Amino acid sequence: MSTVVDWLKDLLTVPWATRPFARVMRGRATLLVLHRLADPARGVPGVDPRDLRRALEFLRSERYPVVSLERVFRGLAGEAPPLDRAVAFTLDDGTLDQATVAAPLFAEFDCPATIFVMTGYLDGKLWCWWHRVEHVFQTTRRREISVWLGGVLLVYRLDDRRGRARLARDFMERCKHVPESEKLRAIERLAAAAEVELPERPPARYAPMSWDDVRAWEARGITFGAHTVTHPVLSRTDDAQSAREITESWARLRAEARCPVPIFCYPNGHVGADFGPRETATLRALGFRGAVTNSPSGHASAADFQSSPDAPFAVPRIDFGQDHRSFIRSVSGVWRARQLLGERVDVSRALAAAAPGEPRRASARPSSRLDGV
Ligand SMILES: [Zn+2]
Repeated sequence: MSTVVDWLKDLLTVPWATRPFARVMRGRATLLVLHRLADPARGVPGVDPRDLRRALEFLRSERYPVVSLERVFRGLAGEAPPLDRAVAFTLDDGTLDQATVAAPLFAEFDCPATIFVMTGYLDGKLWCWWHRVEHVFQTTRRREISVWLGGVLLVYRLDDRRGRARLARDFMERCKHVPESEKLRAIERLAAAAEVELPERPPARYAPMSWDDVRAWEARGITFGAHTVTHPVLSRTDDAQSAREITESWARLRAEARCPVPIFCYPNGHVGADFGPRETATLRALGFRGAVTNSPSGHASAADFQSSPDAPFAVPRIDFGQDHRSFIRSVSGVWRARQLLGERVDVSRALAAAAPGEPRRASARPSSRLDGV
């Protein structure tokens, strides 16, 4: 049985096999999010650039409207014609690999993309907190680390490298659920317990792009948006920090970039957990036209976007995925059809459900594969 399922999944990577699903993507756009691009020379793990190239070739050969994030927002708002099965690329954080690996690929395909940068990181004032955690777990010589976090004593026994990566991810996830100040103190305690010195500047594999990179890529079709100064989970901050993270990152971006995009990107970005009306109010007061999330709640549509005054401040994005199959499922409508129908992929029913009117709202949700940052 699993062989048949695998065969069907493989079939759906054949471009023509996905064409019937275009109907369920009427009036819907896919906003994709990427984090790091693999750069083995610098020891950077991430999405294989060959997979990104393959995705861009697929979109080109199948004539998908690949447009800028701002163009998607105009369509969603009714200011421009809606774009059926449109795709927009976004990347989060502003790591160097996004400038050296991803941006050249987007330029080669004449493909717009928006990079959301953490401005304190580009300013050289900090390195990403989750990179600090990863660095501690990967470089410690200790076989066991005990660290307090949120009133709980966590004991990590370190064995092989892959096991260390899993434990680091566990610690990162726990960090997202405590107040920001406790998170930062816990990372210091973690480094002390692991006997790892955290340098002020990030090691090469965690380096940010520069503001010069921002301006150089702006000239070649990449746009930039704000993603806070220090990348806290905003719902874990007090009022003053929440306002400061949004206001100052926007001010820094406007000072350094020529045409910053007035669309914000929440750190972590899970709807109902990582931001709320307080952040939306700040964004609205600063003149932002909206914001994107990391909740895999589906594709963006004008109906959803115009459903409430706050909806433009919670526009969903879908993870690019770790393989070509998951990418194709996201953009082609296969995944959308599956949402409509539950777990079964029944082509005839999917197409019948989509025509002639608007598809029913999805109830089934896929599991998130986002890195969560
Ligand atoms: Zn981020």
